[in-house]
Amino acid sequence: MLCGKTRVRALGRAAKRCITRKPGEFRRLRMSELLTHEELNVYENAEARFEIAAKKLNLEQGLYRYLKHPSKEVTLYIPVGMDNGTLEVFTGYRVLHSTVRGPGKGGIRFAPDVTLDEVRALATWMTWKCAVVNIPFGGAKGGVICNPQKMSKLELERLTRRYTAELADWLGPEKDVPAPDVGTNEQTMAWVMDTYAMHLGQATTAVVTGKPIELGGSAGRREATGRGVMMCCNKAIAKLGIKKEGCRVIIQGFGNVGSLAAELMQKAGYKIVGLADIGGGLYNENGFDVPKVIDWVYTQKKSLQDFPSGGAKMSSRDVLFQPCDIVIPAAIENQITEKNASQVQAKILCEGANGPTTSQADAIIDAKGIFTVPDILGNAGGVTVSYFEWVQDRQGFFWRESEVNERLLDVMDNAFDQVVHYAETHHVNNRIAAYMLAIDRVANALRLRGIYA
Ligand code: NAD
Repeated sequence: MLCGKTRVRALGRAAKRCITRKPGEFRRLRMSELLTHEELNVYENAEARFEIAAKKLNLEQGLYRYLKHPSKEVTLYIPVGMDNGTLEVFTGYRVLHSTVRGPGKGGIRFAPDVTLDEVRALATWMTWKCAVVNIPFGGAKGGVICNPQKMSKLELERLTRRYTAELADWLGPEKDVPAPDVGTNEQTMAWVMDTYAMHLGQATTAVVTGKPIELGGSAGRREATGRGVMMCCNKAIAKLGIKKEGCRVIIQGFGNVGSLAAELMQKAGYKIVGLADIGGGLYNENGFDVPKVIDWVYTQKKSLQDFPSGGAKMSSRDVLFQPCDIVIPAAIENQITEKNASQVQAKILCEGANGPTTSQADAIIDAKGIFTVPDILGNAGGVTVSYFEWVQDRQGFFWRESEVNERLLDVMDNAFDQVVHYAETHHVNNRIAAYMLAIDRVANALRLRGIYA
């Protein structure tokens, strides 16, 4: 049977819901069908692109149904003893979208606004992202509704360990391999690895990626997503005949992806004219000295918007619509929408964040002739070096950073070329081309494997 009910096994003491998935059918997609309130539903956005790409590929109905739905999803109610002696129960999720091309791969997000739909969308995107860069992973994602800013380190450790323990039967180097995402970091991954290893009774470094180097992490993983963004920008400007020196770049998001993309790109000759984080944005046509901004925000712990001589202050979103050659949303979802897409002034939109552009904005961006590097390609540098980390852990043999970066360049350049070639030969935009390339690869693997029933 291609598609049916997936029952979540009872695991541990946490309560879990059984999720029933129904087979879907092709439907003719009209963008006007998506109501405005649906525009911001990231799962709807992921589905909208999948629908278009699957139709263009003439994907068989059975495979379409199979790939449209996650393979498994679980809701966990996670009890955590808080520092003040009370007992809190947090809601968490893990969604495994696909293991057709390899183990599930995808981060764990700790944030107050995590929803099951968001985790589903992110898990689906991971399947397509791993397929676009042609690494042997499927797609997964996890999340816990919590506010890590308001929790102590010990509370976060207890939450992470219980979440991991509840998922112990689901995770594993050959099953599902988490990584950090918004609100989690190397330390969180160290706790996941240790908890899993304690349950198994043996060290298992390859169960997570994004770990500290001392515990089997990879050189170059911290910079990998920002570096991959830069590699895509290098290819895009070469394609459009834009010179790197003085090429104006705006980056929204000054965390792992945004700050490292800014630093690497400035070093390479780009001019960073706009920066933003959750507190607001700055635009300065003379360009920023990025290492000084990093020192201001991360060492001196001061607000980005108060950076001296930072130029014009504006909202974090408005910075995306200032004059520039490349705009890089690298913060959160739903930043470029049907309402504001017409205001984008860049020649290139390179997505560092997952889902920063809604599906309704796609046509407006296309009509403006903006060259788009979609998220499933633009931010794939992170998962690519996560793959290298998993390989190194399993080999027990570690590579120099220069070797990691060289291999990353090879993967990103190839993926970029393949997406653009696909777009040109199928007369679709780069985003739909990336989806088509990915869906085609997963569907081919599925045809070869066949359906176990
Ligand atoms: P992070 O938590 O390190 O940084 C997030 C940044 O976004 C911070 O500067 C924060 O202030 C800013 N931000 C948060 N809410 C905002 C808002 N409402 N408006 C403007 N700015 C806001 O996260 P990260 O790891 O840099 O991830 C950023 C994005 O990139 C996410 O969409 C994530 O899923 C995606 N991504 C990350 C990686 C990775 O390796 N870290 C890999 C692939 C994709």
